[in-house]
Amino acid sequence: MKRIGLAAVLFAFALLPLKSQGQGGTPLFDLKPVVPGVYAAVALPQYKINCNAAVIVLDDGVLVVDSHSKPSAAKALMAQVRSVTDKPIKYVVNSHFHWDHYQGNEAYPAAWPQGVQIIASEATRESIEQRGIPRVKHEILTVPKEIETLRADLAKTTAGSRRATLQDNVNQAERYLAELKSMQMALPTVTFDRSLILHGKSRTVQILWLGKAHTDGDVFVYLPAERFIATGDALHGWTPFMNDSYPMDWIRTLKAVEQLDFEYAFGGHGDVFRGKAQFQAWEQYFSDLMTQSATAYSSGVSMTDTVARLSASLVPKYASKMPPTFKDDIVANIQKAYRVVSGQVE
Ligand SMILES: [Zn+2]
Repeated sequence: MKRIGLAAVLFAFALLPLKSQGQGGTPLFDLKPVVPGVYAAVALPQYKINCNAAVIVLDDGVLVVDSHSKPSAAKALMAQVRSVTDKPIKYVVNSHFHWDHYQGNEAYPAAWPQGVQIIASEATRESIEQRGIPRVKHEILTVPKEIETLRADLAKTTAGSRRATLQDNVNQAERYLAELKSMQMALPTVTFDRSLILHGKSRTVQILWLGKAHTDGDVFVYLPAERFIATGDALHGWTPFMNDSYPMDWIRTLKAVEQLDFEYAFGGHGDVFRGKAQFQAWEQYFSDLMTQSATAYSSGVSMTDTVARLSASLVPKYASKMPPTFKDDIVANIQKAYRVVSGQVE
């Protein structure tokens, strides 16, 4: 057998595509260098969404922020990480308790049984246990119905491209269901109240809880020297999702984050931001949303009419800072704001 030189092997390796493959052969992430040794793994669209991951190379290991919606996605990310470093993944941070940020946890201790620490705030660990795990059980019952609906849609669709999309969605949903059924949830192994700091030789990583925001347990992963911050769903490129949020606290927390010195902010969805303009946009958006909801509620306007009134004022004002789905997404945000100002929820 002809020997292939090491240089040739390395050269071939360098030519490997930078995208990792999901179970269906679909690429799951775009891995982008942000500053040396820090990568933004931007999740590509999937029927069952994955969150982004920030990948931070440390002295003798790697820290990854968030683990996506399923173990197979976490494994796809690991393969991607191997294309940029051979160091083991030693730390996984769960930014908050939502399904698309932690359901892949188990893949990490499975790959490195000798020791991966999963880090979260105390509040997030509690929410994963009390709300996340029951949600997985609930989904095992609801996803089969979702698959039936997709199949029914497929049966009555004739257009080729739409059929291909629906068939792909059915396949993805079936694989997701199989993963849910075999999920062995790995809870965070290290928790903290306010801050946890990794003092490495080559870099310092600050993991910070700065107040309630998108949930009660959101943490930020901040690299002061590199001026980089991973923000989970407390700040990202999609419309803010407010269902489990504390809107007034959220404004204060974003202002506290803004006090930090950073140039790159990478959220749980969407792309990397430069500077702090998106923070200011979200703060102003939440502030307008809450003020206008309070005015409407106190003058006896119904929730339905408040949705119409606030959509008319806020969609034109914020459309340029939000994704194209904003005009639809805003409805749930206004309903949430109305429930808060009317005292139905905290
Ligand atoms: Zn979330």
